[in-house]
Amino acid sequence: MSHAFDVRLDSLGFASAQGGPASVLHPSSGQRGAAKSFYIETFGCQMNVHDSEKVSGVLMSRGYQMVDDPAGADVVLFNTCSIREKAAQKVFSRLGLFNPANVRTNSGANEPAGESEVKAPHGSRRGIVYAAGKIIGVLGCVAQQEGEEIFERAPWVSLVCGSASYRKLPEMLAQLESGNRRVMGLDTDTDETFETEITRRDNPFRAYLTIIEGCDKACSYCVVPFTRGPERSRSSEGILREVRQLAEMGYTEVQLLGQTVNSYRDPTARRMKFAELLVAVAAVNGIRRVRFTTSHPSDFGADIIAAMESHPALCDHIHLPVQSGSTRVLARMLRTYTREQYLEKIAMIRGARRPMSITTDVILGFPGETERDFEETLSMLDAAQYDGVFSFKYSPRPNTLARSMDDAIPEEEKIRRLAVLQDHQRAIQTARNEALVGEHHEVLVDHRGNREGQWAGRTTSNRVVNFTSPRSELLGEYVQVRVTRAGPNSLVGEQLV
Ligand code: SAM
Ligand code: SF4
Repeated sequence: MSHAFDVRLDSLGFASAQGGPASVLHPSSGQRGAAKSFYIETFGCQMNVHDSEKVSGVLMSRGYQMVDDPAGADVVLFNTCSIREKAAQKVFSRLGLFNPANVRTNSGANEPAGESEVKAPHGSRRGIVYAAGKIIGVLGCVAQQEGEEIFERAPWVSLVCGSASYRKLPEMLAQLESGNRRVMGLDTDTDETFETEITRRDNPFRAYLTIIEGCDKACSYCVVPFTRGPERSRSSEGILREVRQLAEMGYTEVQLLGQTVNSYRDPTARRMKFAELLVAVAAVNGIRRVRFTTSHPSDFGADIIAAMESHPALCDHIHLPVQSGSTRVLARMLRTYTREQYLEKIAMIRGARRPMSITTDVILGFPGETERDFEETLSMLDAAQYDGVFSFKYSPRPNTLARSMDDAIPEEEKIRRLAVLQDHQRAIQTARNEALVGEHHEVLVDHRGNREGQWAGRTTSNRVVNFTSPRSELLGEYVQVRVTRAGPNSLVGEQLV
C-alpha cells in the first residue's frame, strides 16, 4: 500500500502541494501568489485526530499546503481537548509560545512582525517558533468551552471554533482571508454533521470515519455534551459511499467513530440500525477489518454481537467503558446502568461464538467514592477480565453536575487508587496475553521495528504484536504470526512462512 494521504490533490487543481508552490488567491492580499501553508496540532481522543484530518482536508481544498512545523506556517491551528483539566491547561501553555509579546529578535529587541524567536515556556515541545504575522486558531473542545475568553487570555488568537461549527469553517476562513481580525463559531444547537469533500488521512493503514457526532447522554462528570453538542448521525448512504471510496483507495481497515457510536440512528428513510450498518460496512468489497468505538453499555444489545458473529471482517474487539464497578457511584455519575446490568453485557459478549477482546475506561476518585466503591471497581476488573483499561483520575469540569458534588477525594488518594488499579490490571492482562502463547494470529503490519527483520502490527483483537520475519517488505500486509512470548501490553512472535 503506497498511500499516505487520500487527498486527491490533482483533482483539486493543487497538484504542486508536495513540490513547488501552487498559484492560489493570497489570503490577506486578495492577490494571486504563493500557496499559504497551515500547521495543525491535535490534543485528545481519536475523534479529535479525525476532526483534524477533516479540517486539513477543508484547508487543502482551499489551496493551503500542510506543513509539519509551526515556524513555517501562515495558519497555526490547535485542535483541543478539555475532557480533563490538564488537557485544557496544556493548550494555553502551547498558545503562550505564540504570544508576540514574548518575541525577541536576535538583537534582543521586541519585534512586531517577521521571523522572530520566542522563548519557550517550560515543558513546551518546541523551543522556537515564529509567531508574528500568522493566523492562530483554537478549534475543538477548549474553543467551545472557553469561547470569547480565549481572545481575552490570548489576544493573538484570531479564530475560535467549536467542533459543532466545523461545517462553517470554509466561511470562517473566507472571513479571515478577506481581512477580518477575529472570527468565532460556537454553535451547539445544530442538527448537522461535519461532512467534507476531502479528508487528509494521516494513518495509511486504518481509516477513521465519524458516523455520529455529539452526545445526548448526560454523565455528571463529562463536558462532551457541552463541547460537542447534541447527537447527530450521518446518513447510512453517505457512510457507505465513503467506505467504498476508502476501499478503492486501498484501505482495508476502517474504524467507525462516535462518542456513543452504537447509539447511531440513520436519519434517512432507510432507518438502518447500527448492527445493520456494521454488516453493510463489513460487506464492502476490499474491506477486511471494521472497528468501532466508543460503545455505550446501555445501547449495547445482542444484535451487535449477532452482527459481529455474522461477518469475519467485524473485528474481535469491543471498547465498553464501565467508569466504576459500584452501582452507587454509577448512579451518581448518571451512567444509566448498574453493575449487574453491565456484567450482563459482559456475559453476553463472552458468550459470543468467537472470543472477543474487551477494553474499558475507568474513573478513580469520583466525588464520594468510598474504599468499598473502589474495591468494587477492582472486583469488576476480575469479573470482566479486560484486555485493556484506560484509567483516569477524576477531574472536575466546568458546567458539569459532578463539579458541585460534595466529598471530593484528595489528590493523593486518587493517585493511590490509580496506581493500585493499574497494578491489578497489569496482572490480569499479563495472564490473558500469556494464554495466547503458541497460538497463530493474523496481523496487519503497520510499523517497522528498530532492527532489520523486526515488524509490528495489530491482531483483530487490537493487540500489538512485535515479530520477526525474513521478508524485506511487509508494511500494509496481513501476515500469520506465531506468538512466542507475552507481556502485559503486547505480544512477541515470528511470522509463519
Ligand atoms: N463517550 C465515551 C463513553 O461514554 O464512555 C467516553 C468519552 S471520553 C472522551 C473518554 C473517557 O474520558 C471517558 O470514558 C472517561 O473515562 C474519561 N473522562 C471523561 N470525563 C472525565 C473527567 N471529568 N475526569 C476524568 N476522566 C474523565
Ligand atoms: Fe461523556 Fe457520557 Fe457522553 Fe460518553 S456518554 S461522551 S462519558 S456524556
